[in-house]
Amino acid sequence: MSFSASIITLFPDLFPGPLGASVIGRGMADGLWSLSTTHLRDFATDRHRTVDDTPSGGGAGMVLKPDILAAAIDAVAPQGDPRPRILMSPRGKPLTQARVRELAAGPGAVIVCGRFEGIDQRVIDARQLEEISIGDYVLAGGEVGAMVLLEAIVRLIPGVLGAAESHADESFENGMLEYPHYTRPQAFEGVEIPAVLTSGDHGKIARWRQAQSLALTQARRPDLLDWK
Ligand code: SAH
Repeated sequence: MSFSASIITLFPDLFPGPLGASVIGRGMADGLWSLSTTHLRDFATDRHRTVDDTPSGGGAGMVLKPDILAAAIDAVAPQGDPRPRILMSPRGKPLTQARVRELAAGPGAVIVCGRFEGIDQRVIDARQLEEISIGDYVLAGGEVGAMVLLEAIVRLIPGVLGAAESHADESFENGMLEYPHYTRPQAFEGVEIPAVLTSGDHGKIARWRQAQSLALTQARRPDLLDWK
């Protein structure tokens, strides 16, 4: 069974968008993962196909109605569906490569994209939605966040990128940022490739890269080293 992603959204036309391009899109064409979208509005029950209502207690904006969203979730992921149910949300746990790796090893994900002010809390609780944030800023909707999440997941699915080692060394995989890369020409605007990289000494190259990774991480993201 390949990784199966189901998106619940008010803007299904946004998909696959960037997920249809390059290696991610090819992975889908090759059957390594699949994507389906469900239009939340299809679950509205009134003539106007209403999905939102004013916030209880007052305030700006609109809130997605719990009954409509629950019906959509239950249709997409009936009881017994093993996939985690995720809600894209700025209040969620910040997404990490570790969570991405776990999700990539699983059966797929059901992803709810919020819009407006947010979502009635009762459906988040009742359907045990895992809230995931893609960063400390506020987007207009969950769709771009869902694409970020899926792109990060899908590139880890075996066969999507070329060799398995393509991501072994990458930023965050070992709790550090990646070392700098170089390629020809040998001199670019008067700057040479670091000599160690053209020395042919693989042990020395590995140690240099490790030291560069550590120095970069200490300088830019000391928080990544905190737990060590
Ligand atoms: N009023 C909310 C923001 C609503 S933004 C608040 O202050 O927390 C509308 C929708 O965009 C959200 O329901 C969510 O699905 C999505 N969204 C916005 N920012 C996001 C982020 N940083 N990460 C993931 N999803 C986000």
